[in-house]
Amino acid sequence: MKTYEWELKNGISRTKEFEKKGLAQFAVNIGLKCGHACTYCSTGAMLRVHHAFKELGLSAFDNGYAIVDPTTPQRVARDARKIRKRAMVQLCTTVDAWSPEAQEHDLGRKCLEAILSELDWTVRILTKNAAVKNDFDLIEKHSDRVLVGLSITATPDKSNRIKIIEPNASSIEERMETVRQAHERGLRTYGMFCPILPSVADSPAQIDELVKFAVDCGVEEIFAEAVNPRGRGLILTEQALEAEGYRVEAAAIKNIRIRQNWSDYVVRLIKNVQRSMRKYYDISKMRFLQYPSGLSEEDIIEIKKDDAGVVWL
Ligand code: SF4
Repeated sequence: MKTYEWELKNGISRTKEFEKKGLAQFAVNIGLKCGHACTYCSTGAMLRVHHAFKELGLSAFDNGYAIVDPTTPQRVARDARKIRKRAMVQLCTTVDAWSPEAQEHDLGRKCLEAILSELDWTVRILTKNAAVKNDFDLIEKHSDRVLVGLSITATPDKSNRIKIIEPNASSIEERMETVRQAHERGLRTYGMFCPILPSVADSPAQIDELVKFAVDCGVEEIFAEAVNPRGRGLILTEQALEAEGYRVEAAAIKNIRIRQNWSDYVVRLIKNVQRSMRKYYDISKMRFLQYPSGLSEEDIIEIKKDDAGVVWL
C-alpha cells in the first residue's frame, strides 16, 4: 500500500447529506483515499473530480494506495474554535480516521482532541478499525459527547468473505469486540450495518444475530443500508469473491447488478430488518437509509405500505 500525503482545505464542514441521514450536521475527513480498500467503497465515485488525483496521476477508482492529510487536526482545531453554531460532527464521512495510514499520524485521536477541547461539540465516530479502542481513554473523559460506531458488515461465520471485500480493515470479530468493550467501559454506542451484502449478511438469521448483538452493546440507534449499485463497486466485489472461490456470494452480487434484482433485494432487506427490529429491539430506533432512485415504481409503493424505520433520502 503506497501512501501519498496531500494537504486539504477543509477542517470541519457542513454536511446536508449526513444531516438528512440523521447522522451528523458536520463532517471531518482526514484524506481522500482510504487504505482499508473495501471493494464496494463509493468514495472514489464521489471524489473522482478532485484535482489531487489528476496531479498525482492516479485513478480515484483504483485501490493499492491511500491519500492522507497529516495536517487535518490543525484545521479541525481552528474550525472547532471558530464555528459558533455547534452540533454533531461525524469522524469521518468519506474516509476512515483509524485506517492504517491515518494511524501513522494518530489522526483519529488528534481530531477528537481538537473537537472535544471546545464546548458544545458532539462527535459520531464511524470506523472499520479496532484501533479506535486505543483512544477509549480520551473518549471516556467526554463520554456524554461521543458516540462510538464500528461498521459491522457480516456475522462472524462470514468473516473470511469480509477479509476479501474489506482487506485492510479489522476483522469482523475484532470490530464486534471493540463495540462490546466500548459498551463495557460505559461509552455511548450506535449500530451501523452498512452495507448488508446479499449472501454475505442478509439472511433473516444473520440480521437477527446482528440486531441482538447491537442491543447487547447498548446501542442508541441502528443504521442499516443496502449496497450502493452505482459505480464499479459491485463488479469489483463480485470479482474479488469469485477469485477466492466464493462462487455463491459472487453470484449473489452478480445477480443484483441487474436493476430489478437490486430493487427486489432492497425490499427484502428492509422487511427483514424491520421484522428483526420489532422482535428484538424497537422499530423507532431503526434508520434504514434509502434513496428512492434505483428502486422500481412497484417496489417504492411496496416499501411505502410499511416504511417504519426507513429514512428516505
Ligand atoms: S472503510 Fe469506508 S472509506 Fe474506507 S475503503 Fe472501506 S468503505 Fe471506503
